Amino acid sequence: MRSLLVVVDMVNGFVNFGNLADSKINKITPKIESLIKESILEKNKIVAFCDCHEKNDIEFETYPEHCLKGTKECELIPELKVFKNDMQIINKPTTNGFVTTAFQEIIKNEQFEKVVVCGCCTDICVQNFCASLKEYFDNKNIDTKIMVVKDGVYTFDSPNHNAEECNSRALTEMENLGIEVI
Ligand SMILES: [Zn+2]
Repeated sequence: MRSLLVVVDMVNGFVNFGNLADSKINKITPKIESLIKESILEKNKIVAFCDCHEKNDIEFETYPEHCLKGTKECELIPELKVFKNDMQIINKPTTNGFVTTAFQEIIKNEQFEKVVVCGCCTDICVQNFCASLKEYFDNKNIDTKIMVVKDGVYTFDSPNHNAEECNSRALTEMENLGIEVI
């Protein structure tokens, strides 16, 4: 049984430029590159969620405009884009990639030994995804472990949002849900 590696939102709009980018997230890039290389060698499945919005998306009532369709903001960062042929890229207009039709198809059609999760931002898109996936597996009695890679996730700094604090709180909350932090 193969594993699934999920790379969350490592797009330019969250890392390199735009209203929601924080270049400190780049510190997890080398770890994610090695997770991807390892997954390719082991012939595991790799999914990359990419935030991608239409101009009038409801999410912009909550967050400033970001990752508009057709812009570089919704593209994977250059370091990861080189692996695009080895990954299934899933665009999403919401924080939670779990709800996308493409991801639902994947978990409906294949059972994985484990799901390894990395990317950003730990306390929003990563946590929402992991929590939903855990509920789904529990509800269906599917024995697939979910593992979040500590050195492969991070979040942004802004007023009222301290990256270090929000990152470590999210990791603790996920552990409390039964998600392994590795
Ligand atoms: Zn978004």
